[in-house]
Amino acid sequence: MDKAGGDAMTKALYLEDSYLKDCKATVTKVSGRKVELSHTVLNPHGDEIAHPQPHDKGTLVLGTKLLSVSKTILDGDRILHYIKEKPPPVGADVGCYLDWARRYRVMRNHTAMHIMAQLALEICGGRINGNLECRDHITHIDLRDCNTADNCAKQVEREANRIVQEDRSIEIFYVPRKNITDYIEQRKAESVVIPEYVDKVRLVKIDDLCVDICYGTVLRSTREIGSIRLIPKHNKYFEEKAGGNKRLAFVVY
Ligand SMILES: [Zn+2]
Repeated sequence: MDKAGGDAMTKALYLEDSYLKDCKATVTKVSGRKVELSHTVLNPHGDEIAHPQPHDKGTLVLGTKLLSVSKTILDGDRILHYIKEKPPPVGADVGCYLDWARRYRVMRNHTAMHIMAQLALEICGGRINGNLECRDHITHIDLRDCNTADNCAKQVEREANRIVQEDRSIEIFYVPRKNITDYIEQRKAESVVIPEYVDKVRLVKIDDLCVDICYGTVLRSTREIGSIRLIPKHNKYFEEKAGGNKRLAFVVY
């Protein structure tokens, strides 16, 4: 993260390279089972910035010992690694290894989520209701005031799979927070809360389809997603949720 001052912040290497699977790190803080590192490749779950994606799991290697990281959580601007075994001491040098199979599935879901959200807005109308959730296997997006006809939902799925097959390129870049509405749609900017300490906002651009605020890990190109399939609930693609939300759920396979 990019806050200045206070304790040394963890260098979040997953924001620079989604495909980085391990790094060397020094333990900077230990509190109970929670360990902070100088560097990490493990992407935390956090509710503060943009849409959260599931946390990474992994392993810390301390000499000959393997320490399991059962979850990684963003607490304010701190990245906390929850260790199952006795944590390493402050100052120890460790290897930080990512559970890549889990992460890659998340990256495929997460990247598909950006595509599906954009197409749902274009085809079904309405607005995102700040609730994009990418779970381990099923991902969903919540809209309001949109057309919930089944044929609209199927058109979103069809267009998304066409974009996947076209193998569109995906890039990440940063812009000053005061300029973000030059890059992203107002209705998308309004759906994201950006913490005070962030002065440069991270954006993901999927070819000429969309630009979104994104602090997750994404693929390099759309073909890696594979295929996207909508999951109907009670034989309807849009599920009615509390607060007037209309939920579209899908899997990648
Ligand atoms: Zn994202």
